[in-house]
Amino acid sequence: MKVYNTLTRKKEEFVPLEDNKVKMYVCGPTVYNLIHIGNARPMICFDTVRRYLEYKGYDVNYVSNFTDVDDKIIKKANEEGVSAEEISTRYIAECKKDMAGMNIKPATTHPLATQEIPGMIDMIQTLIDRGYAYEKNGTVYYRTRKFEGYGKLSKKNIDELEAGHRDDAHQLKVSGEDEKEDPLDFVLWKPKKEGEPYWESPWSQGRPGWHIECSVMSKKYLADEIDIHAGGEDLIFPHHENEIAQSEAANGVPFSKYWMHNAFLNIDNKKMSKSMGNFFTVREISEEYDLQVLRFFMLNAHYRNPINFSRELMESAKNSLDRIITSVDNLKHLIANGRQGDMTEEEKELLDKTKEFYDKFDAAMDDDFNTADAISAVFELVKYVNSNSSSDNTTAYLTALKEKITTLTDVLGLIVDKKEEMLDSEIDELIARRQQARKDKNFALADQIRDELLSKGIILEDTREGVRWKRA
Ligand code: AMP
Ligand code: ZN
Repeated sequence: MKVYNTLTRKKEEFVPLEDNKVKMYVCGPTVYNLIHIGNARPMICFDTVRRYLEYKGYDVNYVSNFTDVDDKIIKKANEEGVSAEEISTRYIAECKKDMAGMNIKPATTHPLATQEIPGMIDMIQTLIDRGYAYEKNGTVYYRTRKFEGYGKLSKKNIDELEAGHRDDAHQLKVSGEDEKEDPLDFVLWKPKKEGEPYWESPWSQGRPGWHIECSVMSKKYLADEIDIHAGGEDLIFPHHENEIAQSEAANGVPFSKYWMHNAFLNIDNKKMSKSMGNFFTVREISEEYDLQVLRFFMLNAHYRNPINFSRELMESAKNSLDRIITSVDNLKHLIANGRQGDMTEEEKELLDKTKEFYDKFDAAMDDDFNTADAISAVFELVKYVNSNSSSDNTTAYLTALKEKITTLTDVLGLIVDKKEEMLDSEIDELIARRQQARKDKNFALADQIRDELLSKGIILEDTREGVRWKRA
């Protein structure tokens, strides 16, 4: 399996640090509003990476944070006259609803920055003790030049960065950061301003900088050294560059083996962003489309290619996804009327031939998670299934075909088999009615009930011990 590593700018063979285990960290959203579909892109892309790794047999520890303390959250809280906590709690709940709609698996751990302050204070102290950080008037800064590898992820040269900052002297004065030893230094801890939430620390009553939270949560919930660190490409600099500087200086080991970044979701070829106002929230899209369509739309592009959002592309995604759903629906009808008994030899052979599409799917995903090509393989499978299934087939074969499709769509996180789940009690009740109908010699009704159950994916078996049922 090959993964494109931003650190080396190359596709590399994926070899996890520990056999069969993957430690993966994905930078999560800042929660002060409903998420927009740009924010949804890393969620969908890296959830799919996770699902594929799991399908390949890896045990994935997937950590994704919520940034729940930040200037924007405080601003929103002040506008509404409520606490910052109320804002972040509200939007974390809303974000989780959107994630469920997009069929994004909950992370193994979803840490919150505000719950991890002691760990952040510890790491900042370690950085001070090791000479990588210093305190000035209650603010702690990272001594950027001291970290030798600074710029290795973003490929920025430190002297060019310095030159870029030279004209910032005025700006620094305005922001009160002219006390820094070097304009390149960044904040690890800052004192509170009036009315802001704060925590006690050895340096001041205040709060952590943004970058330190990910270094700390990744260390606590995964390890000092992890396999994959991921996020949108705007995070490469400065966020991820600074995370590397913090973690590697504090822990003395490489931070992450692979760095993965998704390209932007654009609108009119400009990055969709809250500050530009050119965004659609996931919630708005959900009013028009099933969020599966949004997920499918995103996966139609490779995660490192930009996508330009448009209604036309969403419509075409909807139509394409419908083709898979229709195929699965047809299979469900055929299953309801299929022949009982064992799969025939011919059916077994036909089923074996689906391996070709699985190989294509795996080859696409093994090539840096090329979901666009993987979807093409799914369509080839769907076409094959459509032309090799009929009411003459056995239920066993048809059910196996259906599973062939849903196994792959599950890896992509696409729900194409909407189960109208019947409760066990409802099934038992229908079976009892059917038994009564048979006793009454009303075989037409008995058959009708059996068919009704079958159409909902419930298969009945009449045995000597009575009626047994299973889900298709
Ligand atoms: P934020 O809440 O701005 O920190 O963003 C959360 C995540 O969404 C980060 O990984 C960003 O890189 C990502 N992101 C934000 N806007 C876009 C966009 N238009 N396209 C793709 N990813 C984005
Ligand atoms: Zn982060």
